[in-house]
Amino acid sequence: MKSIDNYNFEGKKAIIRVDFNVPLNDEYKITDSTRIDAAIPTIKKILEKGGAVILMSHLGRPKSGPEEKFSLKHVIPYLSEQLGQEVKFASDCIGEEAESMTSALQNGEVLLLENLRFHKEEKGGDEAFAKKLAGLADVYVNDAFGTAHRAHASTAVIARFFPEEKLFGYIMENEIKNMDKVLEDPRKPFTAILGGAKVSGKVEVIENLIDKVDNLIIGGGMMFTFIKALGGNVGKSLVEEDLIDLANEVIAKAREKDVTLYLPKDTIAASEFDNDAERKQTPSHNIPEGWMGLDIGEEAIKTFSEVIRDSKTILWNGPMGVFEKPNFAKGTKAIAEAIADATEKGAYSLVGGGDSVAAIKQMGLADKISYVSTGGGAMLEYIEGKQLPGVEAIRG
Ligand code: AMP
Repeated sequence: MKSIDNYNFEGKKAIIRVDFNVPLNDEYKITDSTRIDAAIPTIKKILEKGGAVILMSHLGRPKSGPEEKFSLKHVIPYLSEQLGQEVKFASDCIGEEAESMTSALQNGEVLLLENLRFHKEEKGGDEAFAKKLAGLADVYVNDAFGTAHRAHASTAVIARFFPEEKLFGYIMENEIKNMDKVLEDPRKPFTAILGGAKVSGKVEVIENLIDKVDNLIIGGGMMFTFIKALGGNVGKSLVEEDLIDLANEVIAKAREKDVTLYLPKDTIAASEFDNDAERKQTPSHNIPEGWMGLDIGEEAIKTFSEVIRDSKTILWNGPMGVFEKPNFAKGTKAIAEAIADATEKGAYSLVGGGDSVAAIKQMGLADKISYVSTGGGAMLEYIEGKQLPGVEAIRG
C-alpha cells in the first residue's frame, strides 16, 4: 500500500483529490459535513509531516462553467475551523492564479482550488487538463473514494504525471483494506445481505459474492423478482420481468455452490405506495392482487436476525424495505440491530451504500459496525470484482 505514512513530505507540495461534494442549503451552509470530516486526518498528517497542501474536489453537477451555488468557496469557513488554520482559495483550479498561489504556498499552508467540474475536461478525463493540475504540485494523493470508480482527470489520469510520487490518503487506504478483508479473507460463516429497489444494479455483485459467501440474504424490492421466479404471486410488488431468468440462475448456482439463499418468508404488503396506506402481513409468495410488498415481515426478521447473529463476517448493502417511510422501516432497522449485535460478539461487519449507511446513522449504530463505507457506487463496483480507475492509477 502506497501510504502517506511512509512518505517524506518535508518541503513538498501535495495535491490531494478530496471528496468535498457536500450538500449545501439555500444559504450555502453545509448540511452534512461527513465527507469533509473524513478527509481531515489525511490533510493534517501531511501538514504535520512538513508538507504544503493543495486541495481539489468537485461539488454538485455544474452544467457548463462556473456557478455560484457550486463554488467550493462555501466550504472554506467550515474547513478552516476544522483544520484550525486559514485556508487560501484559488478561484479557478488551473491557470495563472492557481499557479502563482501554489508556487507561493509555504510548508504547513493549505490552498483549496475551485470546483474541478467547472471545466468539462475533468469528467472527460482530459490529459492536458490533468497535466496542468499535476504541474501545481510535487506529489499526488488520492483520498476521494466516492469517485474512485470514475476515470476523471483528477481521480485517475493525473497519476500518470507522478510515476513514483502518488499515494493513497487514509480514506482510500481504509476502504481498500476493509473491502479486501471481506472479499479475500472472510472468517466463516460469511453472510451477505442485499436489498434496495432493483436486482438490475446488483447483478454483478450477486454473481461475484456467490463464490465467496455461506449465506446470501435478499430483501428489499429486489426480492420479488426472485419470489416470482420461484412461482410466487407478488401482486403489484416491484418485479423486473427481464431478470427472472437470471434470478433462476442465481437460485441454481447457490444450490450448486452450497450457499444458503434466504428470501423473506413473509412481507408487509400495502394497498398503495404510501406511508399511510392500508397494511397487512402476508406470505411473500402469496401477496393479494393489487397489493405491493414494501417491507419484510416478522418471520423474515427473525430468521435473518438469527443467521446474522451467527455470522463471523457480514456485508450489508441496501435496505430491506421502503425505509424512508416509517411504516416500512422495521425490517431495515432490525437488520441494522442484528449486525450491530453480531459485531459486538466479535463478527466483522462492513456496511455500504447510501441507504444502509443512512439507516445505521439514523439509529446511532455507526460506531457498532466494524467499517461503514463512504462510497456507495465505488464500493459496489469493488465488490463486483471490478478494478477501480482511481485505485489502479495509484497501484500501477
Ligand atoms: P438502491 O438504491 O437500489 O439500493 O435502492 C434503495 C431504495 O430501494 C430505497 O429508496 C427503498 O425505498 C427502495 N426499496 C426497498 N424496498 C423496496 C420495496 N419492497 N419496494 C420498492 N422499493 C423498495
